[in-house]
Amino acid sequence: MSKILIIHTGGTIGMTRTPDGYKPDGEYFRNAIYHLDSLKAESMPEWDFVEMDPLLDSSRMTVREWNNIGKVIADNSDNYDGFVILHGTDTMAYTASALSFMLKGLKKPVILTGSQIPLCEIRSDGRDNLITSMLIAGEARVKEVCIYFGGQLLRGNRSKKYSAMGMRAFRSPNYPTLAFANISIEYNEAAFLKEETEGFTFRPFKELPIGVIKVYPGFPFDLFESLLTEKMKGVVIETFGSGNIPDDNAALFPMLEKAKKNNVVFVVCSQCPQATVDMDTYEAGSALKKAGALSGGDMTLEAAVTKLYYLFSICDDLPTVRKLMETDLCGELN
Ligand code: ASP
Repeated sequence: MSKILIIHTGGTIGMTRTPDGYKPDGEYFRNAIYHLDSLKAESMPEWDFVEMDPLLDSSRMTVREWNNIGKVIADNSDNYDGFVILHGTDTMAYTASALSFMLKGLKKPVILTGSQIPLCEIRSDGRDNLITSMLIAGEARVKEVCIYFGGQLLRGNRSKKYSAMGMRAFRSPNYPTLAFANISIEYNEAAFLKEETEGFTFRPFKELPIGVIKVYPGFPFDLFESLLTEKMKGVVIETFGSGNIPDDNAALFPMLEKAKKNNVVFVVCSQCPQATVDMDTYEAGSALKKAGALSGGDMTLEAAVTKLYYLFSICDDLPTVRKLMETDLCGELN
């Protein structure tokens, strides 16, 4: 029988009502899951449960928490067949992306899940999300970091929170769904991550200055120039469509020049969830490429940001960071 570890980090699934709104409630959740009969069913994997301290609304997650979650998995990597991480939905896609890099080579299922409605409420989606995630982790057919939510299993570093209301809160706009939980769990094996030859080494992230710029019509590039000192390591710039930017804005090039002078890596992603950046398609995009910006391809913003953290944490050599940024490392990029 397989054995999994459930790691509770916080999020709506384990929250209860307070006068100020929903708040993580470790004691309630611990009691609730130890009393859920389905979790003791014969068809369920064996499980242990740990709780992070403090339990957080996921909007409070930082690099430190990503590292703490990664460390629990790394320390227990030989003891369990798979891992289920209970997490708030707001930043779940960031944590999933971060863990996919940090735990590269683990070759075990790490399934993040949570809920839109807390388990303490009668219409909670948390029960199915938890049970199905446990089954997927226990079966261990998919050996990568995923998000299971609302009947769908998605690659973690391809996922985005799409809805704050719907039960299918996540989408993977540029990559196929890895499994559908219908009457049975239907896996799409062709989409699984190819088995890595590399062994597993846990690589926690450093707390680094990484930025995000979202361009809009009339964007004041001159105001952002002052941020691009040698202290900044990398910036993801969310442009229009396939990587287009207002290249007739006189302040754009001084900003890019300053970034280049200070070795700030610029990565171009798209504001369209479904897109591949190709800076050669339009004149309005080629300016970025000429100025040394890198293509984020079809990476999500979440994957691009966490990949910058990862690369600058493992390597100081700028040409290597630049090369790896445009290389698929763990299924985040086509
Ligand atoms: N604010 C909550 C969180 O991310 C939302 C949720 O879990 O759905 O922790």
